[in-house]
Amino acid sequence: MAVALLYLYYERESSELVRQSANKARAISFAVGRELVGIETVLLAMAGSSNLLAGDLEAFDPQAREIVRGQRIANILLVDLHGQQLINTRAKPGEPLGMHGDPELVKNVVATRRPVISGLFIGTVTKRPLVSVGVPVLRGDEVLYVLTASILPERIGEIFIQQQVDDEEAVGVLDGTGTVVARSQDGEANIGLVASRLVTDAIKVSEQGVLAFTTADGDGAQFVYNRSPRTGWTSYIILTDERLRRNFWRILGMLMAATAMSLTAALGMAWVIGGHITRTIKALGPPALALGSGKPLAVPHLPILEVNDVGQSIVKASEILNVATSALRTGEARMRAILESAMDAIITLDDKQTIVLFNSAAARVFECPAEQAIGSPITRFIPERFHARHHDYVGKSRERTEVFGEPEIAAGLRHGHEEFPVEVSYSHVVESGAIFHTLIIRDVTARERALAALERSNQDLQQFAYVASHDLKTPLRSINGFVQVLAKNYADKLDEKAVLLIQRTQDAARRLEQLTDDLLLYARISSEAKPFARVDCAEVVQEVIQLLDAAINNSGAVITVEKLPSLPGDRTQLVQLFLNLISNGIKYCRDRTPVIHVSAIQDDQNWIFSVQDNGIGIDSKHHGRIFEVFKRLHTQQEYPGTGIGLSVCRRVIDRHRGKLWLTSVVGQGSTFKFSIPKATVEGPST
Ligand code: ADP
Repeated sequence: MAVALLYLYYERESSELVRQSANKARAISFAVGRELVGIETVLLAMAGSSNLLAGDLEAFDPQAREIVRGQRIANILLVDLHGQQLINTRAKPGEPLGMHGDPELVKNVVATRRPVISGLFIGTVTKRPLVSVGVPVLRGDEVLYVLTASILPERIGEIFIQQQVDDEEAVGVLDGTGTVVARSQDGEANIGLVASRLVTDAIKVSEQGVLAFTTADGDGAQFVYNRSPRTGWTSYIILTDERLRRNFWRILGMLMAATAMSLTAALGMAWVIGGHITRTIKALGPPALALGSGKPLAVPHLPILEVNDVGQSIVKASEILNVATSALRTGEARMRAILESAMDAIITLDDKQTIVLFNSAAARVFECPAEQAIGSPITRFIPERFHARHHDYVGKSRERTEVFGEPEIAAGLRHGHEEFPVEVSYSHVVESGAIFHTLIIRDVTARERALAALERSNQDLQQFAYVASHDLKTPLRSINGFVQVLAKNYADKLDEKAVLLIQRTQDAARRLEQLTDDLLLYARISSEAKPFARVDCAEVVQEVIQLLDAAINNSGAVITVEKLPSLPGDRTQLVQLFLNLISNGIKYCRDRTPVIHVSAIQDDQNWIFSVQDNGIGIDSKHHGRIFEVFKRLHTQQEYPGTGIGLSVCRRVIDRHRGKLWLTSVVGQGSTFKFSIPKATVEGPST
């Protein structure tokens, strides 16, 4: 931009210089014209002299000489119409006089009878270049003489001084023929030379203008001229490119100097202001460093508004930080309290599986102080066969978005050799780009032991129930047989009371037989469990309906079955399940005709079956109890039964990994529902 501006400025300066030069040329033209017209006026006054008109040249001569002295005129000549000098103010008295130095002038004056300004010519007496003005001496219309006055070119040169032409300026004046009359530089050498054709042609065409040309040195230049229409003379100024260039360099120099000065000033100011800013900002250092120290901060008022604002912001930030830090500390303390009071071992690992946190429970469970555990690899607490699984879980926990994984049964390692069962859950957290894994480990030794003991006692109990019911069957059958024989063969020998007693004994024995049968059935659910196979539930229900044929006929029960699915299960047990539920529906109906509806719906994972009846219903307070063994809500007289049916159902459903529940309205009916997974998931065999 500076270069572009400079160039523009230079262009403007150049055209301004040309304009100024044109003005000066006009002023010089005007001054030269005034000079010549002044002489002309003097001559015209002399031409009216009575002596001259009377032809008394003797009397006119001293007058003329007198005037020459008063005026700055080289000479005054009086010539006849042929140019012969009659009076020459520079000639000595009696000296023979020659012809006028500029016969053209004389001729022109005679021809035009008007004043004429000559070109440059060489004076006959002075032998110097002269310029003349000629006027006619008229008597009426007749031209008597021609009166001329000459001036030396120096007089024109003086005009240059008046017009304040400086030494460097090449200023000149050309006469009507284009001859150099005066020049500001090396005047003598050039006077009398005729201007080039280019110039003379241009002058003829217009009164003023600018011509570009090349100087003898080969440099470019401009010729700025002005021609006076009154005198026909031309003033000119030559502007060389070199002068313009000098001007340009002068401006450039000034500009550079100004730029350097303002740059220096700006740098100085920047230095001072920068120092001021630095000192002010430095004042923020100590408060900024004290941020987060927890101490209240004070920042003094600072002289720079923005820095002061930052200072106040630091104070505010410190307040916020103090609140946050104390909250963090409280949170941390709370967290630590939770960690330390947790019943389970909590261990945090970095991404390289190195322990970074080991709570007191962990120290207790693994019998290893925290300071020994921290920094060591977690694998020292995991039996080798679980290492792969551990790495697998750490990898998985990284992919998971939820905080905790499912607890997994695994084993822990104490003192490098002592294994114990544990339940582990994994989670991970990303803290400033680093991953930390947290393991929550529960020592389940006691629970596992209790479970094992429970299982053992369960098995013993089942064994006992099986053996008892099985072994009781034979003596029971014998008792039954004997009592029947007694009733049949000795009826006539027994009294009425004895017959009644025998009948009661028969009833009790039958009931006992039923009880042992049911108990055996219950015990067999696990002891005679068959592997799961695909079971068509529609078939199962049809088989149950056939088994219940007598009961259905007796009661007139109506059984409707919707479309039922096939699923993986133990067919015998599913028959038992439907048999118990449907037979209960028929049994617990009082006087009504039983109406039983069997249906199934499905969700994502399970089939959900319903066995709905229109029976007596079950009060909701009994819903939990009825699934227990031997639990009955009625007496034998009301409804016969052993209280084992629903507990068998529950065990079958447990084995199929499903759920069993009911909804019921007393007096209107019950709906027993159970779910069975669509895919094979065999439950515990106990
Ligand atoms: P049981 O039928 O041999 O008594 P269950 O275990 O099958 O034994 O039933 C337990 C008790 O639940 C029954 O005594 C009865 O009171 C009640 N119960 C079972 N099914 C129904 C039903 N469909 N409607 C009403 N009550 C029922």
